Amino acid sequence: MTLDAQLIKEAAMLVGFDACGIAAAASIPSDEWDLREWLADGRQADMHYMEEHVDKRYDPTLLFPGAKSVISVLLGYKPSARMQGTHQIAQYAYGEDYHERMKRMLYQLLSQLKENYPQLEARPFVDTAPISDKYWAVQAGLGWRGKNTLLVNPKLGSYCYIGELVTTFEADHYDTPMKNGCSDCKLCVHACPNHAIVSSPLPRVGTQVDARRCASYHTIENRAEQLPDGIQLSGYAFGCDCCQLVCPYNQQAMVRYELTEEHKQELEALPSADEKTFKKATKHSALNRIKYAQWKRNL
Ligand code: SF4
Ligand code: SF4
Repeated sequence: MTLDAQLIKEAAMLVGFDACGIAAAASIPSDEWDLREWLADGRQADMHYMEEHVDKRYDPTLLFPGAKSVISVLLGYKPSARMQGTHQIAQYAYGEDYHERMKRMLYQLLSQLKENYPQLEARPFVDTAPISDKYWAVQAGLGWRGKNTLLVNPKLGSYCYIGELVTTFEADHYDTPMKNGCSDCKLCVHACPNHAIVSSPLPRVGTQVDARRCASYHTIENRAEQLPDGIQLSGYAFGCDCCQLVCPYNQQAMVRYELTEEHKQELEALPSADEKTFKKATKHSALNRIKYAQWKRNL
């Protein structure tokens, strides 16, 4: 049985995704993805989980035997307003934890598709398994890898969550990558306060982020008691948006998250929250990725 690509995309829109594309599942050519080179240089810092299942990250058919298609979906998160204050939170974490939200939506999509294809075998992924989501979003025609290494979609900019349904079924049409829209722009590279956006050893890939110098890595993934000297947090207590705020595609991107005044004030009050209040306020937020001790360290 072959999946109707148009039907899948319409179902994805009905569920609430902002974009959907489909790529044929195959092993990623070694000159198109620089994970191995990134790891070899130690640019993953202490994210040792990135060193695991590298072969699966290059080949979704190892992750999900028999995989034929990767249905890639995007959900925009550009907020209607930004929080104020000296302890900023990266915008992707303003709302509900995207893992929870995207997974719920992917299961909704799966159940809708099963109405047309009762035998459909598919697995949803949201940052929870070794799959190279940006690569597959590019292959599915949803954007390009920007110099800040994030997926850039013409309408959503890089303010989008990425998820996939990997299926053992073929589709009647596969999308193809779009032209890279960065052109000569290097605004994100110059905006990084830590010079963390560096050249990739693979010319076709372009740039990498060296996590050892990245404020987003240090405020979220680094579990050490102290942050290393010389890392500029630029007013962020969780994540860092510096290489996204300057991107012209983000400045014109669609607003996809309504930040209410009440929620904005809650976020702005977090720096003075005690542990119990912090945990309660962040229970269903991507902020729950860090422990209270890390939050206090970052502050
Ligand atoms: S998230 Fe911040 S520190 Fe990391 S690469 Fe972007 S601008 Fe640099
Ligand atoms: S700031 Fe410029 S170079 Fe960086 S991702 Fe956006 S368009 Fe590309």
